[in-house]
Amino acid sequence: MERHRFVCSECGAEYYLQAWKAVCPNCQSEYTLTLVETPREGRKIFTAREYGALLIIGYTLLSFFLPSTPTLINLITSLMPIPEVAIYFLFLLLALFLFLGTTGGVWAAMVIGVIGAAYGAASIPVNGLTATIPTALASLWFVGALLFHRHSQAIRAHQEKMEDARNMPEYSGWGSEKSREQR
Ligand SMILES: [Zn+2]
Repeated sequence: MERHRFVCSECGAEYYLQAWKAVCPNCQSEYTLTLVETPREGRKIFTAREYGALLIIGYTLLSFFLPSTPTLINLITSLMPIPEVAIYFLFLLLALFLFLGTTGGVWAAMVIGVIGAAYGAASIPVNGLTATIPTALASLWFVGALLFHRHSQAIRAHQEKMEDARNMPEYSGWGSEKSREQR
């Protein structure tokens, strides 16, 4: 059975419960228990996007030291008259925004990861084994961003469900404003 960590905002008591409770078992306060993500879960999310950000930095360094590698950075610099520094800067920004877990950064990392992996894979017949490195890097940072995205969505859905539970009829019975008036 999966248990979640709840903390009472009134007395600070901690509980591992399967479901939210309306009344704190310790101080009897009503609607004070709030869901707190366990540190274990938080760490798992952090590593997914941390690895993703590191892989983007690796991809950027690879493009810098091996300009013949089929990376998106080398493709853009060969096609467009943009200073190389600007492209490197953009990819490092992408790594930063993924690291910070911003919605835009996570989405950009997923989209650019797919494009980077597709471009790398398409270059394998021409460039051979060296093309597998940027393909692997882009695929892995895509997976990291996707995992983080799915985790944050699951947590958001879970928290919304917790909020809704307080408005459900079965929770408004004993301990609610109405029943207290009737007492
Ligand atoms: Zn309490």
